[in-house]
Amino acid sequence: MAAVPRMVVNVAQPVIAIAGTTDVFPVRRIYCIGRNYAAHAREMGADPTREPPFFFQKPADAIQNVAPGTVADHPYPTLTSNYHYEVELVAALGKGGRDIPPERALECVYAYAVGLDMTRRDLQRASGDQKKPWEIGKSFDHSAPIGPLHPALAAAPMGEGAIWLKVNHVVKQSSNLSQMIWSVAEQIGRLSQAFELMPGDIIFSGTPENVGPVVRGDVIECHIDGLPNLSIRLV
Ligand code: MN
Repeated sequence: MAAVPRMVVNVAQPVIAIAGTTDVFPVRRIYCIGRNYAAHAREMGADPTREPPFFFQKPADAIQNVAPGTVADHPYPTLTSNYHYEVELVAALGKGGRDIPPERALECVYAYAVGLDMTRRDLQRASGDQKKPWEIGKSFDHSAPIGPLHPALAAAPMGEGAIWLKVNHVVKQSSNLSQMIWSVAEQIGRLSQAFELMPGDIIFSGTPENVGPVVRGDVIECHIDGLPNLSIRLV
């Protein structure tokens, strides 16, 4: 019998930069909440009343680290002709658990960052129409650009503050974190009923209304009060 060849593979641990340090945050899972701002739910054709929240995941290696003050090249993905931005507050967990009560949930938050839930909208919509999974529309390579994590902000609930996104200096999305249907604490509570949350998990907390398409050459700039802006250029 032929010997089984020994296979040695080094797989990189996805990480996110931690602001003000040379340390990095290892990413275990990326959870994302859907339709968490009422006006965005309406534009997606959904009823924005307080239905139970729903979640999806991106692979951890979908992270694209973007340093503040830089404009990172972001590859326009294959298979889409309707590539959308979604600016979102991201919470990174330093503690986990099961059935975490919302009033204790913010104790799990290690830091916050600005993130983009990049979306192949045409493929996401087709998946929904055909009752197929969303992965091809949401969970592809480089689909999660993110700025550095800011641990100092974890002391605050991040329950309000401006959130906006510009394309080529024109405001496209503009809202307030206070418009979330489900707060970060409530999201952690709900998620922890379905999954055991662990340190290294991050949560994209949903996007406000007025999502829209970008093309190669466009520059996206994202802002959340208290965090440095996040910028990418489509290439
Ligand atoms: Mn989203």
